[in-house]
Amino acid sequence: MPFTASATLARLPRVPLAYLPTPISPLSNLTRHLGGPELSVKRDDQTGLATGGNKARKLEFLLGQAVQAGADTLITAGSVQSNHARQTAAAAAQHGLRCHLVLRGQPPEFPNGNLLLDHLLGATIHWTDEAAPYSQTIERVEEELFAAGSHPYIIPYGGSSPHGIMGYVAAMIEYAAQASALGAYDAHVFATSSGGTQAGMLLGVHLAGLGPETRMLGISVDRPRDALAAGVASLANQGAVLLGVDWHIDARDILIDDGYRGSGYAVIGEPEREAIALLARTEGILLDPVYTARAMAGLLDLIRRGTFAATERILFWHTGGVPALFAFPGDLERAL
Ligand SMILES: *Cc1c(COP(=O)(O)O)cnc(C)c1O
Repeated sequence: MPFTASATLARLPRVPLAYLPTPISPLSNLTRHLGGPELSVKRDDQTGLATGGNKARKLEFLLGQAVQAGADTLITAGSVQSNHARQTAAAAAQHGLRCHLVLRGQPPEFPNGNLLLDHLLGATIHWTDEAAPYSQTIERVEEELFAAGSHPYIIPYGGSSPHGIMGYVAAMIEYAAQASALGAYDAHVFATSSGGTQAGMLLGVHLAGLGPETRMLGISVDRPRDALAAGVASLANQGAVLLGVDWHIDARDILIDDGYRGSGYAVIGEPEREAIALLARTEGILLDPVYTARAMAGLLDLIRRGTFAATERILFWHTGGVPALFAFPGDLERAL
């Protein structure tokens, strides 16, 4: 890694939140079941922070910014079952900050899954109309908090900002050390949505010296490829500027497969049900219905179409989300 970039990364304010490094484990039973390729999993669902997930890595740098700015309250936004909102609420609780969440939709009669955890973690929840942009409600909440004498800090949707993606730059440096001990992988597959994880990974591949041929394949959860790739490129390039690195990525060079979006965000279909049941029964690993089951369903389909040689080594990056399993009992019953 270029010395100046690593020095800049090390100097960025960072609040320890995640249990790192997360382990890499072989998926031997699944590999045998499928007849290859050789599959392993990077367990970012085990980062800690109120049941784990990829947002813990981003929040280390985002809380660093918030604390440096003298904030006493965090504001962020997401869907009803947002893993990002739940991990932000947990990070706030751990560091003595208050947390306000702007969630889209209607309050259910009984909160479940991530929303139940948001309540338990002491977050204040503001419901916003499906049609209204998050920014409108966030601004109103921010003004109210200012007026009440608080110092709020806004964490962007999904934690995807140039500072947030530094969590995944650091993750790739962590991973490069593991890969040098375990052997290199031919491709890395993961869920991509607000794009910060993939952006950090791509900048991290460069900074960790993993080589530009390293395949980082994002399975799009909701957005069409071109729009998402433009967002990922923009975030990665802003991250390079933040670290003072002379590097640039073009949206055309970003690997995203948008062929597994089914009927839309958080609409659980047969492919997600199959992936959840298969991982649970072959490996005892829980996937979440919204993100990681969709990414795994995409990987399974690519394998069955013969995209990878049986001898290739593929790393599935499990980005978390497990509490959402408990919010979709009706949809998952059919997987039983
Ligand atoms: C947020 C999230 C993702 C997507 O990460 P982005 O950085 O938004 O692309 C993937 N998996 C899970 C479980 C998530 O909560």
